[in-house]
Amino acid sequence: MEAEHYRQILLDLKRDLTDRINTIDRDIRHEGMTADWSEQASERENDEVLESLGNTSEQDLLKINYALKRLENGTYFNCAECGEDIPHARLELLPFTAYCVECAERIED
Ligand SMILES: [Zn+2]
Repeated sequence: MEAEHYRQILLDLKRDLTDRINTIDRDIRHEGMTADWSEQASERENDEVLESLGNTSEQDLLKINYALKRLENGTYFNCAECGEDIPHARLELLPFTAYCVECAERIED
């Protein structure tokens, strides 16, 4: 079944993302603290990179959860904006998109 196919893809993505977020959280907390000042400074820079990675992952996770909800509602294959069918080729590439190409270009960035 088509919906089941995409549900599996989304659940796989969700698991990967959750793993990544957990790893990033662990890295940010730092189990062992370093005494050296220069090392601390570079760790802080590293933290900012990790944090922005974490934010992106969390946004992706929200999109995935939204897509899973749309699958449940039976609205997954329709653009959330204009209601047109989202092409399957697009869903294969971006399984968590809620919009057709035209609407996505208008709405996202
Ligand atoms: Zn649309």
